[in-house]
Amino acid sequence: GGATTVAPLRVLLAGPRGFCAGVDRAIRVVEEALRQYGAPVYVRHEIVHNRTVVETLERQGAVFVEDLTEVPEDARVVFSAHGVPKSVPAEARRRHLLYLDATCPLVSKVHREAERHFAGGGAEARHILMIGHAGHPEVEGTMGQLPPGAMTLVQDADEARSVAPPDPTRLAFITQTTLSVDDTAEIVTILRDRFPHIVGPRHEDICYATTNRQAAVKAIAPDCDLVIVIGSPNSSNSQRLREVAERAGAARAVLLPDASGLDWRWLDGVGTLGLSAGASAPEVLVDALIDRLRGRYALTIEERRVTTEDVVFKLPAPLG
Ligand code: SF4
Repeated sequence: GGATTVAPLRVLLAGPRGFCAGVDRAIRVVEEALRQYGAPVYVRHEIVHNRTVVETLERQGAVFVEDLTEVPEDARVVFSAHGVPKSVPAEARRRHLLYLDATCPLVSKVHREAERHFAGGGAEARHILMIGHAGHPEVEGTMGQLPPGAMTLVQDADEARSVAPPDPTRLAFITQTTLSVDDTAEIVTILRDRFPHIVGPRHEDICYATTNRQAAVKAIAPDCDLVIVIGSPNSSNSQRLREVAERAGAARAVLLPDASGLDWRWLDGVGTLGLSAGASAPEVLVDALIDRLRGRYALTIEERRVTTEDVVFKLPAPLG
């Protein structure tokens, strides 16, 4: 056959992307527990929302369960980065399980904010509006820091307009860490308008990693015919990145758990492809996607970095 022409494809990499300090720490907690105590180490819920990470740890001897009742007596169990309701460590103690808490310190910080607002439930207590998505484990964990009724979930602007707290003068708000920065700003504005006495963080509780990844995707999206966000469908911050890409002007944005799911038709007519990855998606998945693309296209790769990150979290005390 004659010479084949390889079509050119420009790839714009969003930076920062991928692993955050909380995810990195949570994975190290499981690895270190396996090293120090040996297999099996049980993990309640996906340690972070990524199948590749979970399967890699499974091969090393981690056993993932959804409920503590699946963990045998005297076993070791790790709580995931998303945090857990207070009832979970309480049950672990009751059942004599040895637990390690891989809750991200930035999620734990929100838990402590909630407790401060609640102030023991006395006369000083403020009712708390929790801005977040129903069913996400971080929301279950944060709302589970306080007795039922202490918090009301507010999921979007409409709910912010209709929520009816018990006493509007004793009110606070907290947020999930992985929300859309823009949507949350709108919700907070509505709440501050309706409830001038509401107290809360200056902006919200969205973490640095979520903020930076959204800013990085915004910086590339207007130049992209397609943005691929590597991340799992159950990863909140990955879903938000896909939405941000679309709203910021990418012609199209898709979420892709890993390179094997790539649909070549997505690339029809695409001259510039943007790439990012959610905070729970390892960089090897980005590399694997680029390798696949290289098989069909002549790539020019450019990274656009909006900021650099140097956050590292220490392991919990028992693991030193
Ligand atoms: Fe922590 Fe943010 Fe990473 Fe969640 S996304 S684990 S809050 S650093």
